[in-house]
Amino acid sequence: LATRLAQLDTHLARFRDSGIVNLINGQDIPGSGGAFETRSPVDDSLICSVSRSTAEDVDAAAKAAKAAFPAWAAMDGKERKKILHRVADAIVDRAEEIALCECWDTGQAWRFMSKAALRAAENFRFFADQAPTARDGQTLFAPGQMNVTARHPIGPVGVITPWNTPFMLSTWKIAPALAAGCTVVHKPAEFSPLTARLLSEICREAGLPDGVLNLVNGFGEDAGRALTEHPDIKAIAFVGESKTGSMIMKQGADTLKRVHFELGGKNPVIVFEDADLERALDAVIFMIYSLNGERCTSSSRLLVQESIAAEFHDKLEARVRNIRVGHPLDPATEVGPLIHKVHYDKVMSYVEIGKSEGATCRAGGARAGEEGWFVKPTLFTDATRNMRIAQEEVFGPFLTSITFKDEAEALDIANDVAYGLSGYLWTNDLTRALNFSDKLEAGMIWVNSENVRHLPTPFGGVKASGVGRDGGDWSFDFYMETKNTSFAL
Ligand code: NAD
Repeated sequence: LATRLAQLDTHLARFRDSGIVNLINGQDIPGSGGAFETRSPVDDSLICSVSRSTAEDVDAAAKAAKAAFPAWAAMDGKERKKILHRVADAIVDRAEEIALCECWDTGQAWRFMSKAALRAAENFRFFADQAPTARDGQTLFAPGQMNVTARHPIGPVGVITPWNTPFMLSTWKIAPALAAGCTVVHKPAEFSPLTARLLSEICREAGLPDGVLNLVNGFGEDAGRALTEHPDIKAIAFVGESKTGSMIMKQGADTLKRVHFELGGKNPVIVFEDADLERALDAVIFMIYSLNGERCTSSSRLLVQESIAAEFHDKLEARVRNIRVGHPLDPATEVGPLIHKVHYDKVMSYVEIGKSEGATCRAGGARAGEEGWFVKPTLFTDATRNMRIAQEEVFGPFLTSITFKDEAEALDIANDVAYGLSGYLWTNDLTRALNFSDKLEAGMIWVNSENVRHLPTPFGGVKASGVGRDGGDWSFDFYMETKNTSFAL
């Protein structure tokens, strides 16, 4: 831990000196709205100041993205591929620095962030490889007519990201946009600005032409809003809360903005009595307590069959009490501090809500440590489907367990929420798995597995969990327009 802290200190020195400024058209430019502070959730200490951008800065970034667009879009896809692979190489070279900064800025544990930095490089490689064929279309014949379809990058786009695993998530949006030939203005979350700055520097050093990726820091209500309203920005790729998505849709209406939303979740993990219970237990723990529970696809609602509920809960409680809460840079740590006091207060408020609703707090439900925003891994049982802890996204290490009698009741409870991002099913009955997953209202379902991503598959949610899909060719559908030209034969 001491070594890691010393390394971190070296990396942070430059931020302490100059603060985090915007990167617009390849230039370091302070925001015109002054600066705000970013603090570590570990001990609430000051990390550095961050540019607060206004509509004026967003306008400069959008204009830079617009000016850079024609050349970037016209560049041979093979050239874009080379540049994006260089970005991936540089991410790998600086993976340790990225992970250290991410842990300190967000409170996420090293054991997960060291992998997340590498996954970010994979995101770049995956989309880089598709850059040469991204514009490919098809030929459709009709009597006396030949239609040729082709895709064109939509133009400069805005990417607005949240504070949970911010580096990896940003690359998941920015890499396909760049591979498609779009230019980008990125507005990262105000709570986690460090690694967005590193990404923009990495891209600049890897040879991304000026203006192709622009960074504007600041708050949602001014910089974020201005980006969604800017007429030169053709689309907004947004990851964040459902209510923010709804605001962005309204803000973008006047300029007919194309939007893609990855929003909140209250994802069920359904454990049937015929499941491999030890594997299910591992997965239930992993999917809600890893990444501090600050994960859109976390399985925050456990639905467990009545016949096995007592045994399952006993084992779960024992395991939850053993989860290591600690300094995010300690490799043994499983749960670190929550991002910010505001979020800590929100998560802790759900402990009181759960108790007042009559659910049983079997583990956690309290602060861990003396300083920072640490919450003990929390488990509520005896919940019923209408309780707020069973309906609302808590976004922390907080699991709500509900029991069910049979498959029909499980499905009814599982679908009885506003959200529909992911679902996890544990059963050895194949017919049940097929029927249940067909009727479960979710964009992504894993049967007998935790969330294991395969990048070519579609990623996204239904209901209040999102609009549109990422991954594979779905990302290109969003960042490109499809044009049809019809030739008379
Ligand atoms: P948030 O919605 O508060 O903020 C996300 C981003 O939006 C930030 O950059 C913020 O500054 C910006 N923003 C806020 N108001 C805005 C406005 N009016 N106009 C434009 N931009 C605005 O979300 P958060 O608290 O940072 O992140 C947590 C949320 O993100 C959770 O709900 C989580 O489920 C969701 N999430 C979803 C996915 C997914 O793939 N579905 C992935 C990660 C996180």
